[in-house]
Amino acid sequence: MHTLVVNCGSSSLKYAIFDTQTEQSLLTGKVERLGQSGDEKQRTHQVAVAEMLADIGQRGAEFDLSSVGHRVVHGGTRYNTAVIIDEAVCAEIQARIPDAPMHNPYALAAIQAAMTALPDIPHVAVFDTAFHADMPRRARTYAIDYDVAQQHGIRRFGFHGISHAYVADKAAGFLQRPLKDLRLITLHLGNGASACAVEYGHSVETSMGNTPLEGLVMGSRSGDVDAGVLLTLLRSGDFDVEQLDDLLNQHSGLAGLSGLGNDLREIEDQAASGNDRARLAINVFAHRARKYIGAYAAAMGGVDAVVFTGGIGENSATMRRRILQRLEFLGLVIDEDRNQDALVAADQDYALLTSKRSRVEAIVVKTNEELMIARECATLVGSLHKDTAQALANASIPIAVSGRHAHLTAETFAQLFGPDATLTHHKDLSQPGQFAAQEKIDLIGPRSTITGVRILGPLRSVDQIEISRSDEFKLGIDAPVRDSGQVAGSAPVTVKGPHATVQLAEGLICARRHVHMHPDDATRFQVQDRQEVAIAVRGGARDLVFGDVLIRVKESYKLEMHIDTDEANAAELGSVATGSSGELIYTDVDDAYAELTNPAQRVKHND
Ligand code: AMP
Repeated sequence: MHTLVVNCGSSSLKYAIFDTQTEQSLLTGKVERLGQSGDEKQRTHQVAVAEMLADIGQRGAEFDLSSVGHRVVHGGTRYNTAVIIDEAVCAEIQARIPDAPMHNPYALAAIQAAMTALPDIPHVAVFDTAFHADMPRRARTYAIDYDVAQQHGIRRFGFHGISHAYVADKAAGFLQRPLKDLRLITLHLGNGASACAVEYGHSVETSMGNTPLEGLVMGSRSGDVDAGVLLTLLRSGDFDVEQLDDLLNQHSGLAGLSGLGNDLREIEDQAASGNDRARLAINVFAHRARKYIGAYAAAMGGVDAVVFTGGIGENSATMRRRILQRLEFLGLVIDEDRNQDALVAADQDYALLTSKRSRVEAIVVKTNEELMIARECATLVGSLHKDTAQALANASIPIAVSGRHAHLTAETFAQLFGPDATLTHHKDLSQPGQFAAQEKIDLIGPRSTITGVRILGPLRSVDQIEISRSDEFKLGIDAPVRDSGQVAGSAPVTVKGPHATVQLAEGLICARRHVHMHPDDATRFQVQDRQEVAIAVRGGARDLVFGDVLIRVKESYKLEMHIDTDEANAAELGSVATGSSGELIYTDVDDAYAELTNPAQRVKHND
């Protein structure tokens, strides 16, 4: 099986074919001079795809393509992993064009042309933003007016994720330690440059932000600049928005500082001959990178290795030395000979840069974004077919978070709200026939009172008030975990309505998490009513497997898992878990425990 990888820039289209099993690159190629106005040979990305396919055909070799992987720079907030491309994925790439005008339009054009030319194999989008999609909120949030940020989608996305993920994985292999045990700082230093704090396999900070302009000094991009500078330049009248864009993206960084263009080789040569601005450019570049190493070590509470990659990171020993100097306080001691000789041999993919007495390692790793894309494709598609991927999508179970609420009998309701009161509809709930009422009650415990607990309708034959573990502590009542309806012997509670206060002898429970499903869903998932299962919640800030989940099957039920606010918080799903879903991974809880306690299987699972 072979994977075709397509990497589209604004003026070129690079491609490669990999053997999915051996990960060997079987063919590489490049179509250049795309879309350049005034160029006689101007060609579109659609034409480039046709040329690529013709070239592959002409090379004579027999390829058995099982998938096509497309690099997409901006996947927005929706995709934290590679996905099989369908109309919704194309729409999202399209929607992100304003955020990545130099990349997304061309990637989309190439995707559409390639999907038309090769319609029978899955096409996969691998996003540069995906690795950073789960960055903690504190790291991805800019401290500007919250509502303005929400309205304009202003947040840190981070880029170069395919490269950061690849070199982090390689570095872990080199250190012979699991990635999930390591705190790494990866520095992708090329024409574009970014740093990433990879804590236990996850990107927790990265220097590129809402756009690829923020952070490190780059070939012709400024990286960090006081936002006030932009206001000063705009107010000066010498720059309009387009000119400012041009200044920061094209005439800054190494090129802007040195006045010599963006090639570090030339700048290093000139610096050696005494050119002051060339020296300044090098010093600013190295200082900024070193500053980020310190910041990210602090953000992660320590660091195990610093990893260099990209054209500059892989090739410039002098730049690496400048960046790594004065880091002994972190426990990082460079070995000058190792640094000088690193990657000199053509077949070397990585090399150690630090001395024996260094507690923190520095490593240089040759990046290979195309291979990473091929890998992601193979993982996602493997030998699967589109139908199987669809079947996996069908296996997900939507999650809803239940806040504290009360089900009351007509008798209790009349006591609390008066004999003539009726339950008024506020809004429908997802389960057919169920609704949230406008009426609310207070729960009074020995420790404190919880006000405004919503009543759910219709009224029932027994009182049942469902709260979370945190609520129990607030009230000072020890409520048992119970299935809905099993209130006999549950905790007593005092409830207060506008008409009266009533002491319930029982009815306060901590509801057991459960999945509602229709009999057809039960057949599909091969489960039965009241069976206990485990549900995995993935893709949020914290992956979690909920054991002890009760299946409840009824004709009137709609497929949905119900958890309480504590449980949602544990998986960091947010208070309403909008769009979240779980996956039924074990139909037998004993199997789940067996797997969790079997280290061999656990490693497999973590991979
Ligand atoms: P990239 O964007 O990753 O291809 O990196 C391109 C940059 O790497 C260029 O701007 C070069 O300045 C730099 N580069 C490549 N080879 C060397 C080298 N031998 N010494 C210094 N810089 C290099």
